[in-house]
Amino acid sequence: MLADDLMIYLKTTDTCQLNCDHCFTNGKNGKKGWFDTVKVIDFFNRLHDYKSEFPKGGNISFHGGEPMLAPPEKMFEVWNGVKHLWPNIWWSVQTNLTYPLIPKKVAVFEEICNKNWGTSWDKGIRWPDINQELLWEHNVKEMTQAGHEITVMISISKAITEMEPIEILDKMAALGIEHVNFERLTHNGNANLNPHLFATNKELDAWFVKMWDQSAEYKTYEYIDNNFFDSILTSLVYRTHSGCRCRGCEQKIFTLNADGTIGGCPNAAVENTYGTLDDDIETLINSPGRACSIQDEIIRHPLCYTCPVFDICNGDCHQLSWQGSTCAAPKSLMIRLKEEENIPLYKKFLGDFMGQE
Ligand code: SF4
Ligand code: SF4
Ligand code: SF4
Repeated sequence: MLADDLMIYLKTTDTCQLNCDHCFTNGKNGKKGWFDTVKVIDFFNRLHDYKSEFPKGGNISFHGGEPMLAPPEKMFEVWNGVKHLWPNIWWSVQTNLTYPLIPKKVAVFEEICNKNWGTSWDKGIRWPDINQELLWEHNVKEMTQAGHEITVMISISKAITEMEPIEILDKMAALGIEHVNFERLTHNGNANLNPHLFATNKELDAWFVKMWDQSAEYKTYEYIDNNFFDSILTSLVYRTHSGCRCRGCEQKIFTLNADGTIGGCPNAAVENTYGTLDDDIETLINSPGRACSIQDEIIRHPLCYTCPVFDICNGDCHQLSWQGSTCAAPKSLMIRLKEEENIPLYKKFLGDFMGQE
């Protein structure tokens, strides 16, 4: 079973120069070494023989560890060997951007990513000293001023829920950022060793309401796009389930670890692999491990089926943990938005976005 869209997390390495407390790929303790470019190109060509078109497009994202630790020549080698296979699939990078911006690395952002890529920001768990955070800010500013459209991922740790949401949104906008996304922590890698990082689901729920109220009050949709809201609002306005609400990640995502093993959702792809780059595609697609992950994702928590916002939420990401009968979804916010049904306001937040990935 393969979806009509494809999402590949292509890890150039399994390790990183940073060691964030919440890292689901084990930070600097991840396996050392680069991806095998010859095997990766061969894998994509065989996947193309198996499915020559993904009608809904998709994305190939260089990932890690820190993907930009790898020699850029290797990234160009893979891009040049693969980009012609599915012309409707776009390429990107998710990087920590905490390194000097040498021209060879900038060329990856410009040529492979077409100036559209992602980085991350966190509160107190990413950079060991202020100079590294300042380097990141400097790099972000330099790239946005050069016309790059950057999406910043922010992990919602407990420390984030103790901040005012508007403070974060305005900080990102001041750096020239056009898109932010907020992701909830999952129990993988380093995060498992640091339970104090996790906000409770109740705290998350309250913080999402606060973020909405402040965003509506300050009209943040006029200066920054919040992808976290997009995935809720598309359900309300267009009746689609996008992003973390698609509940189809395991059918469309392959994470190619740098050591050649393959898993689905990137958060679990270090410890939960079901194949390798050497497998023939038919074997990989039909592997029992992949089938189990797909099934886990299709079956919702029993309480979802009686939830008043199941039509909007769709059960949310299947990697998130419940606490008793409390899910990790922005449930209070969804209930309110459904009741208020302020479609003109929701459309302002969405802009042109209608739910396609
Ligand atoms: S979260 Fe990203 S930047 Fe932080 S240690 Fe993990 S791979 Fe590196
Ligand atoms: S299953 Fe959840 S964590 Fe994994 S890619 Fe999908 S939304 Fe993200
Ligand atoms: S809000 Fe919670 S209970 Fe309702 S559908 Fe979403 S995950 Fe399930």
